[in-house]
Amino acid sequence: MTADLRVELPAEDIEGLEFAAFLAAADASLSNLAHKRAPLRRVVVSADVPRASVCPLGGPERHPAAVGLRAPVEWNTVAAIHVDEAEAAEEVRAAIGGDSAALRRLEDRDLLWYAPQERPSLVAELERGKAVSSGSLLEPFRVVLFDLDGVLTPTAEIHRRAWSALFSEYLSGRGAAPFEDSDYFEYIDGRPRNEGVRALLASRGLTLPAGEPSDPPDAETVAGLGNRKNSLFTSAIAADGVAAYPGTADVLQRLAQADKSLGVVSSSANARAVLEAAGLVELFDVVVDGQVARNEGLAGKPAPDTFAFAAVRLGAAAGEAVVIEDAVAGVAAGRAGGFGLVVGVDRGTGAARLINAGADVVVGDLSELLAYGYNGRG
Ligand SMILES: [Mg+2]
Repeated sequence: MTADLRVELPAEDIEGLEFAAFLAAADASLSNLAHKRAPLRRVVVSADVPRASVCPLGGPERHPAAVGLRAPVEWNTVAAIHVDEAEAAEEVRAAIGGDSAALRRLEDRDLLWYAPQERPSLVAELERGKAVSSGSLLEPFRVVLFDLDGVLTPTAEIHRRAWSALFSEYLSGRGAAPFEDSDYFEYIDGRPRNEGVRALLASRGLTLPAGEPSDPPDAETVAGLGNRKNSLFTSAIAADGVAAYPGTADVLQRLAQADKSLGVVSSSANARAVLEAAGLVELFDVVVDGQVARNEGLAGKPAPDTFAFAAVRLGAAAGEAVVIEDAVAGVAAGRAGGFGLVVGVDRGTGAARLINAGADVVVGDLSELLAYGYNGRG
């Protein structure tokens, strides 16, 4: 028991102080669970260690019950292990994502007690926990559906430069404030193309008629400016090509060799052109892009419709398919569609936001799908 905790809670007896320290440890274990390979259950391991093997922790943020370790804790000193029951996983997920109501519900939940001797069976049970265990993450699934921008190819940057080129010229011709990087994130990123045009123009007090989808790139309409951005984007990829993230083709080939059906589901109208430029198009059995969505009347992400359409095309039920996404809206689409597994790829959005949107697991890069033990031989 730390002296700091006694000062903090002078009215508590030793049992009360121990319980306070226990709850603080359960809380602290949540931050470890944001790690992508952890099961979504809080774990507290209680051990009897000599006072000399712990030391005070510095720093204003530390909990009064927290101590540092001078030496590793041996398993033979462990007195008890407490773990959330499996039903707590959804609340753990929400709490990691910053949902404070879920955190309070979790704090009211009792952890289950295990004797130290039960550790091997407990570990096996946690390992079986879906998706969050190590092992063959994608193995149970027949179909894998990938988002494009930010998952397979770093095309967001090319989009951003095309927007910048469009509006730098357009705004200077009208004496409006010049286009800034922050404008992209504020008015354009994540919106359908023409809505981005409209929002950016509105920010400068400009309005244009909507126009028609077939308007030429030099038309003074919202659709015309949208088409101009699109032609800047397509000429950039035609001129410079597109390099997929390193290792992407290798991951896709291994999955294809293991008889997975692979699909791309992208809001971009240029998905096929990007896949061709990146040399990946042959690896996919289906591509559902913005054009397909329009022709089929499918709602865009975060609605699950485009992913569901791709799964049906590949003859799979949602539960047999994996969705791999880097955007909050895309992860939410995978969750809403009841897919068998939703993998978030954290290219800067943050693991907590992806988990909170419904990702079962978060990786930093597709190569980690293989690191989970998937060797491509099924
Ligand atoms: Mg994306």
